[in-house]
Amino acid sequence: MSNINIRRDVKDSFYRYKMPRLVSKIEGKGNGIKTVISNMSDVARALSRPPSYPTKFFGIELGAQVKIEDKNDRYIVNGVHEADKLQSLLDVFITKFVLCASCKSPETDLVIKDGTILRQCMACGKRTEVDMRHRLSIYILKNPPPKVKKSGQHAAPDSSSAPHNGISDSKNPSDEDDDQDELTRQITNDAANLKIDDSDSDRWDIDADVSEEAVARRQRELAGSLTLDERDEFENDLDSKDPYDELGDFITEGSHSDKEIFAKSKDLGLSKKHRATIVIIQCLFTNKDILGQIQSHASLLRSFGDSEKHQKSILGGFERLLGETYPELMPRTSHIFKALYEEDIVDEDSFLVWSEKPSKKYTSRENSKKIHEYSEKFIQWLKEAEEDDSEEDSD
Ligand SMILES: [Zn+2]
Repeated sequence: MSNINIRRDVKDSFYRYKMPRLVSKIEGKGNGIKTVISNMSDVARALSRPPSYPTKFFGIELGAQVKIEDKNDRYIVNGVHEADKLQSLLDVFITKFVLCASCKSPETDLVIKDGTILRQCMACGKRTEVDMRHRLSIYILKNPPPKVKKSGQHAAPDSSSAPHNGISDSKNPSDEDDDQDELTRQITNDAANLKIDDSDSDRWDIDADVSEEAVARRQRELAGSLTLDERDEFENDLDSKDPYDELGDFITEGSHSDKEIFAKSKDLGLSKKHRATIVIIQCLFTNKDILGQIQSHASLLRSFGDSEKHQKSILGGFERLLGETYPELMPRTSHIFKALYEEDIVDEDSFLVWSEKPSKKYTSRENSKKIHEYSEKFIQWLKEAEEDDSEEDSD
């Protein structure tokens, strides 16, 4: 399954707000024929809205009956509806009921005040009214959104693609592991015991920090959080389509093999570019099994080159993935880095340079700090391994 930008009008593969493409299938026959939206709850989670809202919206716009079964995770629109049509209607839903009317950020919560539905924006702090004449507004008033929990967690606790899900309590990471060597065991225990610093866990709350600095930071994140120089690097030719975006689009179309992705990178003149690896990590790693994906895409990540710059970009790409897309996996940083090391994607020296200080280049400074903390076990292990090596060498 592939991820697409929540704002499809934004053609930027670095755009951090992604959602899964709608998947639908036709079931039944004759009068009972219906369109089942199989991943409505995933899509809705990415938008921080209950799945019933976009489903109901489709029904209203298409003049069709809908069936909402939260218990069975079934979301159905009667009749036959093309996937493209539904995706376009979702764009309308997003514009009307998700995006901040002022800054277009999708990081909003719905708040009901005096019978009016407002989008509370986490990026600029504004509250903007939704179209109260739309019939969905009546539905929302009757079925108000669940209250935002203090943790900042919006929808289901396993939300994987929510643009602003907070840090959930760390699940015992050992559940998924089979390689239980000493380091892994240590890391696992540590991660399970580590208390996540939740001092900023309420930053997406209704009373979120709207100080100038916080707003500026989120705005930067909105813009893709790259420095101006970096964006210039590939944006100075405004006439042509950005090759990085083209690569991102190609990957998110899905169903391309790694070989094809590399061939495409070559066509686009990116086969030696370190920044291409960031696009690949951002667009290709679309589920939480990061270790499995590192294994299966290792040779693709290695093919772009192994210079210090390449390795730095790859680490940045993973920092971004952990900080922005899967913050709940940050406690697993040491595992993930170990896999990068074992797959010869990032070497010792690059890890040691990286470990020297957190940066806010790829994710917020707070997240970068956390990722550095969670990587400590691995970095320490690397340093010790290096000492052992040099002892052996001196013989
Ligand atoms: Zn806003």
